[in-house]
Amino acid sequence: MPGATPIKVLVVGSGGREHALCRKLVASPLCADLLCAPGNAGIADVARCLPVGVEEIDALVALAKAEAVGLVVVGPEAPLVLGLADKLAEAGIAVFGPSRAGALLEGSKGFMKDVLARAGVPTAWYGRFTDAGAAKAFIGEKGAPIVVKTDGLAAGKGVILCQTLEEGGAAIDLLMGERAFGEAGDEVVIEEFLVGEEASFFALCDGTRAIAFGAAQDHKAVGEGDTGPNTGGMGAYSPAPVFDKAMEAQVMAEVIAPTLRVMADMGRPFTGVLFAGIMVTPSGPKVLEFNVRFGDPECQVLLARLESDLLPVLLAAAEGRLDRVAPLVWSPETALTVVMAAKGYPGEYAKGDVIGGLAAAGEVRGAVVFHAGTRADGEGRVVAAGGRVLGVTGTGGSVREARDRAYQAVDALDWPGGFCRRDIGWRALAREEGGR
Ligand code: AMP
Repeated sequence: MPGATPIKVLVVGSGGREHALCRKLVASPLCADLLCAPGNAGIADVARCLPVGVEEIDALVALAKAEAVGLVVVGPEAPLVLGLADKLAEAGIAVFGPSRAGALLEGSKGFMKDVLARAGVPTAWYGRFTDAGAAKAFIGEKGAPIVVKTDGLAAGKGVILCQTLEEGGAAIDLLMGERAFGEAGDEVVIEEFLVGEEASFFALCDGTRAIAFGAAQDHKAVGEGDTGPNTGGMGAYSPAPVFDKAMEAQVMAEVIAPTLRVMADMGRPFTGVLFAGIMVTPSGPKVLEFNVRFGDPECQVLLARLESDLLPVLLAAAEGRLDRVAPLVWSPETALTVVMAAKGYPGEYAKGDVIGGLAAAGEVRGAVVFHAGTRADGEGRVVAAGGRVLGVTGTGGSVREARDRAYQAVDALDWPGGFCRRDIGWRALAREEGGR
């Protein structure tokens, strides 16, 4: 938007996703000043970090008011589910992120499935249950394999893939009987087991309209070969070879548009990022889940490829005028992020290790290091302060080049207490090198 008055922007969050958002936003001519709450050691290089936690809703609103912020960009889902966007809107502050009513698409799987059913969106068949006996009867009727999920948020762990009827029964006992995830399991969703390749697709929404924001694939499992317990994400790459332009158009028309229509009809117009977890099945793309924010580390690879200025687009989405933004320009290159985590993650891990080699890693051609769980120790050093600590991102003309650059930067780091998967992008690489 040439000529528009620059604004102050507040990013909420402290992960690699927020570091990528901050780096992109600070480069915008429309950005007069960038704040981040609470931020991390890397974000502090590009934004003024303020010690307010992501769930301190009233303090965040007070901060945005006191600083006369022109746009708040919310990274994680927790503040959205707690109603941060509603309170900012009441205070007259533009916010990129859905209202609490919109965030229910991520906060309740049962609600999400009902919206999909009403919108006629392709997805797994399902049932919603608050009674364990009825849930078990449904499993008996449908047979295995089958999937059992907590209705509510369970830190990504409330999904149980059951190969047999016995596993299905045990999943119900765990979620509803033992209440392994507390009240998230008061209701469960039981659904069809879908088979295919997964991809993540992102659309920016302004309440009624949406624009495509690209696709990525991630690696959730902690171990090489996609083995071991699930994590927040050990790596990602974009574009997603399995998700081509034709599929993008199909998902925009058959998933995103009808979902926005139904949400608006229900009085829950959706603003922000709609992140569709898609299973590409032999009978076409089907929705596995919705998230109401960018993925982490998917955001890092998407933004590494975005050539357009991000800020005017997020502001237009927040202000309900996405019809007036110029088409987005994307680099044809591949971006690939390797997550460096603290040894032991996703279980117990140590904090406080000094991370060396950051400058050398940052000098690797085509590589950028995004910070996640890091903090400055006050003596000019960066120390590990979380499970996922760095997102080392390479870009290049091929998956191999992007991957090689990311691992070259990983190898420049000096952090014996950290680890990463060495096979990020294996599927895309095999496709590329197999000529498929
Ligand atoms: P969700 O949080 O609902 O996306 O589930 C987490 C992961 O579980 C997904 O990324 C899939 O790998 C798997 N999953 C979820 N639902 C299904 C399903 N209906 N069929 C097969 N796998 C599923």
